[in-house]
Amino acid sequence: MYFPLFYLTLSSVCLCRFTFASDPSVIIIGAGPAGIAAAAKLLENSITNIKILEAENRIGGRINSVEFSESGKFVDLGAEYCHGQTNNIVYELVKDLNILEPISQDFSPALYYSNGSRLDSAFTEELQAVILGYDSHDSNYNTTGAAIGDIFLKKYNATIVKKYQNDNEKSKILKEALRLAEQVSLMIDGAFSWIDTSAVKHYERSEGHQLLVWKGRGYKTILEVLTKQHPDPKEKLPIDDKIFLNTQVSKITWSSNNEVVVKTLDNTTHVADHVIFTPSVGVLKEQRDALFDPSLSSPKLKAIEAIGIGGVMKIIMHFDNEWWRDEDVIFAFLWSKEDLSNVAREFPFGPIKNEISWLSAVTVMAKVPGNPGVLIAWLTGDFVPEIEQTPVETLKDGCNYLLNKFLGKDYNITTPDGILKSTWRSNSHFRGTYSYERAGCDKDNIRYQEDLAEPLKVQGKPVVLFAGEATNPVHYSTVHGAIETGYREAQRIINLYKKH
Ligand SMILES: Cc1cc2nc3c(=O)[nH]c(=O)nc-3n(C[C@H](O)[C@H](O)[C@H](O)COP(=O)(O)OP(=O)(O)OC[C@H]3O[C@@H](n4cnc5c(N)ncnc54)[C@H](O)[C@@H]3O)c2cc1C
Repeated sequence: MYFPLFYLTLSSVCLCRFTFASDPSVIIIGAGPAGIAAAAKLLENSITNIKILEAENRIGGRINSVEFSESGKFVDLGAEYCHGQTNNIVYELVKDLNILEPISQDFSPALYYSNGSRLDSAFTEELQAVILGYDSHDSNYNTTGAAIGDIFLKKYNATIVKKYQNDNEKSKILKEALRLAEQVSLMIDGAFSWIDTSAVKHYERSEGHQLLVWKGRGYKTILEVLTKQHPDPKEKLPIDDKIFLNTQVSKITWSSNNEVVVKTLDNTTHVADHVIFTPSVGVLKEQRDALFDPSLSSPKLKAIEAIGIGGVMKIIMHFDNEWWRDEDVIFAFLWSKEDLSNVAREFPFGPIKNEISWLSAVTVMAKVPGNPGVLIAWLTGDFVPEIEQTPVETLKDGCNYLLNKFLGKDYNITTPDGILKSTWRSNSHFRGTYSYERAGCDKDNIRYQEDLAEPLKVQGKPVVLFAGEATNPVHYSTVHGAIETGYREAQRIINLYKKH
């Protein structure tokens, strides 16, 4: 493996050439899972001179579990599922605590057409297999440099479209289902268009259940486990007084005197031997020039460009009675061409683009095990930034309209009595949801996440270290990937000071 080898080389070189303080000072920028994991690892290794500077008024970053309704249960505006069991640090940390459960083992989405009919289950399953297999590899296609959307379209036309070419009704639906196929891919990759997503992915899936949930406790539980507050609060690491909320870093000056100077928006200056930088690649895209002095090297700038981040949005609704059936886990919405072009006239509220309503961005609605009465709508595509600005009352009316239009013949739908929306893309502390590999960037044979992870060094000493999900070459875009990088960079510092 690349990284362990790298640590070894680095630590031996540095220990010969420099003398360091025995208790180095470390500033961690960002209190998301990468930052909290880094802090926990440093504290556990007796590096206690640390500060965590966080721009938001809460910890957790893209984990944001919110108490919703009167049930005392938490819903997640950000990360929700633990994806897989093997080689997954989240699963590893909690597997003996009985706090994760898989959502239903086997489920097909209830796929509804905009005329209010439910598509027959055999055809739904066939379509689902094709759509969910959107990124499966097929040696018939040369994927180098290609976008996933282009490859999918070729495969789609050559298989299921060809199969039903003499069936007019299904052929029409298959044409319309292409939108849904793209939307499903955007939910998974977090991009705004599947033409921007690489057909070659280096993501390594952890085997096992892909959708494990937190029994109504929310993904925040992992932060409690990392800091040892759970299961025994008495064991909690001494981290609280090291976290500074509402403290946005505005400048990192890193080249002089072996010390890094960190300035915050309120003009306070902090100095440390090392900084671990964890904000998203969305933040880096927007603020890289303002944040770093001296500026970042060209491989780092290229990596920031090559790694994409778009945005998905969640609308979380609570209903005082569950009008859906027990076996329903997820509803998917397939628009006919005609309904899609009419909907902006029928429901003229909220953003409209190219005469199409924002409602077309609602991809699925999923129920949440452990949270009775809750449905979460997932919205995708480049409409998301505008929808994030829309008042929740309009979103509530829109979701109500949509549910009645698609499902109203089968269910007695009620109006939600509580609603929340996420705003990840609009928030300048995130500027997106999770990272992806951009189309065309695989041609250079460069692993851009590794370039992004490369520390900034002064005379061989790593002074600014980079963690965060987008610096993980194989588990990017996930919480487990973020935690691994926090541990990785904390370990890099620990190795520098380890006594031999
Ligand atoms: C809607 C959504 C759904 C998701 N679903 C899942 C899922 O089901 N499973 C999964 O594994 N992952 C999921 N993810 C992805 C997962 O949440 C992220 O990969 C992970 O949280 C990233 O952690 P991080 O520590 O790298 O970054 P972050 O969580 O973004 O933490 C970085 C922190 O830095 C702070 N910051 C930014 N700029 C500054 C500054 N200038 N000064 C100080 N602080 C700053 C931010 O406020 C933030 O708290 C989802 C994300 C979203 C948004």
